Amino acid sequence: MIRLNFYKNKHVGIIGFGKTGKSVADALIESGACVSICDDCLICDAKYQILNPSDLDWKSIDFLVVSPGVNLLWPKPHLAVEFARKYSIPIINDIDLFQQQVVQKNICITGTNGKSTTAALVNHILNCANKRSLIGGNFGNTVLSLNEDVEFYVLEISSYQLESCSILGFDTAVLLNITPDHLVRHGGMIGYIAAKQRIFANFHENSCAIVGVDDDYCSEIFTFLKYIKYPHLIPISGQKVPELGVGWSDDKLIDDRFGSFDVVCDANPMFEGTHNRQNIAATYAACIVHKITKAEFRNGLFSFGGLEHRQELVANILGIQYVNDSKATNADSVEQALKRFDNILWILGGRPKENGITNLVKYFHKIRFAFLIGEVSEEWSQFFEKHNVKYEISHTLEIAVKRAHEISKNFGNVVLLSPACASFDQFKDFEERGNCFRNLVHNLGKSLSHD
Ligand code: ADP
Repeated sequence: MIRLNFYKNKHVGIIGFGKTGKSVADALIESGACVSICDDCLICDAKYQILNPSDLDWKSIDFLVVSPGVNLLWPKPHLAVEFARKYSIPIINDIDLFQQQVVQKNICITGTNGKSTTAALVNHILNCANKRSLIGGNFGNTVLSLNEDVEFYVLEISSYQLESCSILGFDTAVLLNITPDHLVRHGGMIGYIAAKQRIFANFHENSCAIVGVDDDYCSEIFTFLKYIKYPHLIPISGQKVPELGVGWSDDKLIDDRFGSFDVVCDANPMFEGTHNRQNIAATYAACIVHKITKAEFRNGLFSFGGLEHRQELVANILGIQYVNDSKATNADSVEQALKRFDNILWILGGRPKENGITNLVKYFHKIRFAFLIGEVSEEWSQFFEKHNVKYEISHTLEIAVKRAHEISKNFGNVVLLSPACASFDQFKDFEERGNCFRNLVHNLGKSLSHD
């Protein structure tokens, strides 16, 4: 746990008592602060009393720490945020508390897609090179529950977290890509981009910005950072070699600042696709900035096993691959899987996001059959009708896997769970959805081996 030195005898309000709120409460109590916690749900906790926002003594509160899920502006500010504004209470988050305290180097990673994979890869390579590094933030442990005995922190940071961060000033800030996502929460694309761009705010003379230049939004941010003379700026790409940056030419990873660096791509399935190349280019830039050698980088890269729920090969049953891509909750991440495979039996659906699947139409010729689950089924079945995609409404993942298996005997190379939707209508989160898929597939495999 991170010890917080600046909050002794302060009265801190905490809004949201999930994983983040709990770690904030524990760290603040440990540092001698007094906390008042509120949550929208009625929660009974053995250690803390959870109140309703209206029951807090707002006049006595020095700071309000918000959890990532708390709305600051859109669709409307949370009641606790309104109280804080009324009483002129500074609003901060757990990453601010962390930034005030720690002196170790941090590498912070954001983007619409690829954050977890890139953060895990950077952390893995640092550890393989015998640097003591921990990963946290929006992936794994919350920042305040990390140990202090390290040289590096690798943090995955979401747009929700960036929106409520005030201190910022990261040592190395990585922005991978931006495509439309979370638009309701950010009041549209402008709000979403503004939140992402905050990762570069309050930089210091040694700050390094690593920016993906494969989409227009990020390219514009890169141009802006160049214009304001951001101290160290490295453009990265999964498709080309940006000038004075890191990118790809054929199967080679090239550092345009120092010449070509050959990474053979087909040795590890983790490297397939331009999206992984984007993640690898960003990882390389972040590692080289922190004095990792090319040999250390290569060792770490080739020993990385990839993450669960991201194009994870679960099984190969009777020649059909079963792939768990449960983390693909938006069209852009699904696109990476549809690009990669052919003859796809596609399981998708759940709670839809604002931008739908319209930009996936160009891959529909690869879909042999689609199995719709969850709330969006009716709506997307009409879309499939219009585009002549064969489909059925399976309702549940269990039925979808069973039906996909039956059909796979006749055609299909891959049964792909890549939902293009949030999971909350039927599952606790994308992990529960992915685990459910994996269990269903393993049971299917077992039942066939008994036949
Ligand atoms: P995040 O943490 O940003 O959600 P993940 O690394 O967990 O990203 O990957 C989520 C989904 O996005 C997976 O389906 C994965 O295949 C896909 N993905 C990974 N990296 C990228 C990228 N750079 N661009 C687009 N999609 C990506």
